[in-house]
Amino acid sequence: MVPTPTPDDAHASAGASGRGRLSATRLFVDAFGHEPAGTWSAPGRANLIGEHTDYNDGFVLPFAIEHRTHVALGRRDDGVVRVISTFDEHAVELPFAELDAVFPHRRDEIVEWARYPLGVAWALRQRTGATDVAGVDLAFASDVPVGAGLSSSAAIEGATASALNDTWGLGLDPVTLAQVGRTAENEAVGAPTGIMDQMAAMLGETDSAIFLDCRSLDAQVVDLGFADAGLELVVIDTGVKHAHATGGYGERRASCELGASVLGVPALRDVGIDDLPRARRLLDDVTFRRVRHIVTENQRVLDTVRALRERGPASIGDLLVASHASMRDDFEISIPELDTAVDAALTAGALGARMTGGGFGGAAIALVASGRVDAVRDAAATAFAASGFAPPTIFTVTPSTGAHRDT
Ligand code: ADP
Ligand code: MG
Repeated sequence: MVPTPTPDDAHASAGASGRGRLSATRLFVDAFGHEPAGTWSAPGRANLIGEHTDYNDGFVLPFAIEHRTHVALGRRDDGVVRVISTFDEHAVELPFAELDAVFPHRRDEIVEWARYPLGVAWALRQRTGATDVAGVDLAFASDVPVGAGLSSSAAIEGATASALNDTWGLGLDPVTLAQVGRTAENEAVGAPTGIMDQMAAMLGETDSAIFLDCRSLDAQVVDLGFADAGLELVVIDTGVKHAHATGGYGERRASCELGASVLGVPALRDVGIDDLPRARRLLDDVTFRRVRHIVTENQRVLDTVRALRERGPASIGDLLVASHASMRDDFEISIPELDTAVDAALTAGALGARMTGGGFGGAAIALVASGRVDAVRDAAATAFAASGFAPPTIFTVTPSTGAHRDT
């Protein structure tokens, strides 16, 4: 007997993205009592290679993933912006006029998650001078894992920025919207992150990575061809949360700035492999190793792009492995859980593996032949159990599209 489809089956057949859209719409209707005017979404991202190079004016190679943050938007005519998320049963609302009073110095008055969307509204108005715009209600639902190094923050920023750009008729291009997201994260949230995540969330394309020059913001779409090569990208989320607004991330940035200033360059982007002997003479050991990570990582991004274009995705494994070693030994942003995930994946036959994201927690990625995915999954789970770590969450990601309007 064929069972009668339930509403949940209907949602499932709409796919994860369809479910996210419906969740955002349902939250909107439940919280605000009327239908939204439209829905938008933006993806999280995985960084294939190029870690901590973004704020050094260097190169990165992220791709958008199919996990997305959806926002349902309704207009209001009273100049108020109100936000709610499945993260929090309470809506937060603020008159536009007060955004300028709160951000950046009094941001502590706003509950942390709401600083992301309200910060985007603030940054958009700062950037465009668009003060005479309608108020909005925004309801968010997301399936991007939080704090896993897959950038749920850029997803909520990208969804908000595209929804407001369209609703307010601002006509900003995706790169400008990425910059607005970054301004919100840096100034309204207070997390000193670079531009990579927002660019990936805005510009992502199916089956492709974004090769980004973080100095010029020149972005090239690079074909990944994982499916054609019979490869999968496996994410091993350690479940260990990082916090960007505090701790090691800021210290690494400070080390990079110190290195650049001692070496007399505007940013570490301007230091090449050939300059490393001089850097070793001039810098203390820790700063030198921080610098060496950035310099070699920039080169690995360039090498990866070339390898993808000339030899295909099966040829990049060693570059991923070298990137992880550099982050573990020179930049010192890995943790035992991430090293365990990488080692287990490689032992189980992954072509390459590395931690992804800012470090101190979050996820590792592994490039794996389709037939070995289960072996990698089992190996990681077993290795975590043997080390007494909490079980990791393991799933595959597919390179997907950037922010857009859905309905
Ligand atoms: P990551 O970007 O690696 O997931 P971050 O610390 O940069 O981690 O950003 C996570 C924070 O972003 C969350 O703690 C929350 O404040 C905010 N956030 C992300 N997605 C949502 C969402 N759907 N609703 C509300 N807040 C969100
Ligand atoms: Mg983030």
